[in-house]
Amino acid sequence: MDFSVPASLRELLSRVRAFVDEELLPLEAGAPWIGPFRDLEPRLERLRQLAKERGLWLPTMPGSAGGLGLSLVELAMVGEELGRSPWGHYAVNAQAPDAGNMEVLLHFGSPVQQERYLAPLLAGEVRSCFALTEPDYPGSNPTWLGTTARREGDEYHLDGRKWFASSADGAAFALVMAVTDAAALPHRRASLFVVPSDTPGYRLLRNVPVMGHVGDGWASHGELELVACRVPAAARIGDEGDGFAIAQARLGPGRIHHCMRWLGICERALDLLCRRAVSRRLTPAQTLADQQVVAHWIAESRAEIDAARWGVLHAAWRMDREGAKAVRDAISLLKFQAAGVLGRVLDRALQAHGALGMTDDSVLSYFFRLERAARIYDGADEVHKSAAARGILKRYREAAEADG
Ligand SMILES: Cc1cc2nc3c(=O)[nH]c(=O)nc-3n(C[C@H](O)[C@H](O)[C@H](O)COP(=O)(O)OP(=O)(O)OC[C@H]3O[C@@H](n4cnc5c(N)ncnc54)[C@H](O)[C@@H]3O)c2cc1C
Repeated sequence: MDFSVPASLRELLSRVRAFVDEELLPLEAGAPWIGPFRDLEPRLERLRQLAKERGLWLPTMPGSAGGLGLSLVELAMVGEELGRSPWGHYAVNAQAPDAGNMEVLLHFGSPVQQERYLAPLLAGEVRSCFALTEPDYPGSNPTWLGTTARREGDEYHLDGRKWFASSADGAAFALVMAVTDAAALPHRRASLFVVPSDTPGYRLLRNVPVMGHVGDGWASHGELELVACRVPAAARIGDEGDGFAIAQARLGPGRIHHCMRWLGICERALDLLCRRAVSRRLTPAQTLADQQVVAHWIAESRAEIDAARWGVLHAAWRMDREGAKAVRDAISLLKFQAAGVLGRVLDRALQAHGALGMTDDSVLSYFFRLERAARIYDGADEVHKSAAARGILKRYREAAEADG
C-alpha cells in the first residue's frame, strides 16, 4: 500500500492551491457574500478565463469532454483545495449542480442533448439546475413525487411544483424528475427530462430565502412551477423509468465531491481558528491559545478532519476500482460523518472568534449559514445512518434468520 501522492498530482495540487490563495481568497475583501452574486460575477468570469489558461478548467470531466481527466481520488484532493474558497469550484466550472448535470448528460444524454445542453455547459456559457425535490413531498423518499409527465403523442406534458432547485435563477435549463408511470415499481416510476427554462409553462416563482438571504443567480435556490409544460419526447434522458437510477448515478460521485469540498472548508476554518487563537489576547500576557479548551478544539478539529479525509479518499479509491454501487454504504457513512465534522469545526472556529464570528465580516458566518444544509441535502443524516446500518446488519439478520 502506497499513500504517497504522485509528483504529477502534487504539481497540480500546488497550482490549484496557488490559484485559490492568490486569486480567490482576495475576492473575500469587502465581504461580497453580503451583496448579490451578480456583483461578483464579472470578477469571477475573469477568474474563469484564468482557470482555463492555467489548465484548471473542468476538473470533474474526462479529457474527452475537455476536462482534466482525473480519477475520483485525484479529483477529491483537488476538490479539498478548491473548497477553501466559497467560489473555488465555480471558478473552474466544477460547481454544483452543474458538475452533476454534466455527468448525467455525458453518460446518459443523447448526442443531440449533448450538443445542445452539455457543450455550452462545459464551455461555461450557460448554467443549469436539478429539480427533484418538491415542497409537498418528502425529498428523503425520491420515489414518491407529485410532478407528472404525461405522454401525448411525441410530447410530454409536465405538471408539478419543485423547490430548492439550486441555481435555477438564470439557469438555461433544468433537469426535471417527473413521474411517467405511477403504477410501476417505485424505483421505475419517474423519468428525467431536460427542460429549457424558456419553455412555456416553466416558471421560476421565487428564490427561496435561506436564513435571511434570498440569493440570486448561481447562489440561490429556486421554487419552480410546471403547468402544462410541453417538451418533445426527445427531451427525456434515457428510457422511461430510468430517472431514479440516473439520479442515483449522479449522487454517488457527487457526495464525494461535496465531502471533500467540506473538508476544504474545515481546513480554512481550522486555519482561521489557529490564527485567532495565537493572536487574540485575553490579557496582556495570555492568548486564547493558552486556554486548554481552545487547544482541545484545535486538536479535536485536526483529528476529525484527518479521519474524515481518509474515509472519503478510501471510498473514492474504492469507487475508482469497484464502481459506485459497491461503496454505497461507505458513502452513506462518510456523508453524515463529514457533514458532522464540518458543523463542529465551523462552530468551534466561530465560537473562538466571539462576536466577530457572528458578523458578515467573517467568511466563517457565511460558511456556517451556507453549510448547515450539509446535513440535509444529498440525503439527510438520518437517512444515511439508517441505510448504512441496514448494510451492516444485513448479514447479521440473515444469520439470525438461518439460525431460526
Ligand atoms: C441548500 C440546499 C440545496 C438543495 N439543492 C437541491 C437541488 O439542487 N435540487 C433538488 O432537487 N433538491 C435540492 N435540495 C433539497 C434536498 O435534497 C432535500 O431537502 C432533502 O432531500 C430532504 O428532503 P426534504 O427537505 O423534503 O425533507 P424531508 O424528506 O421531509 O425530511 C425532513 C427530515 O426528516 C427526517 N427524515 C426523513 N426521512 C427519514 C427517515 N427515513 N428516517 C429518519 N428520519 C428521516 C430527516 O431529519 C430530514 O431532515 C437542497 C436542499 C438544501 C437545503
